[in-house]
Amino acid sequence: MPIYEYKCRGCSNEFEELVKIGETPDCPSCGGSDLEKLVSLPAISTEGSRARTSSIARKATDKVRREQQHAQAEYERNYIRDHS
Ligand SMILES: [Zn+2]
Repeated sequence: MPIYEYKCRGCSNEFEELVKIGETPDCPSCGGSDLEKLVSLPAISTEGSRARTSSIARKATDKVRREQQHAQAEYERNYIRDHS
């Protein structure tokens, strides 16, 4: 179930709401239903694209970690060479 972010046109309250497909929540502040759907949350995407996004993020993290390990190994090699 996707989380949507809404802004109430009645009282300018912004809130996030778990919403079933086809349903529109009421403003928790004033109870109004004149809501503007905001698109700022990445969670607004479907389950599939969210999974894809997190797998891309994981790959990026792995790449950074590998580069850090590589840099660390190189640093140690240079250190040993310079200090022996
Ligand atoms: Zn409101």
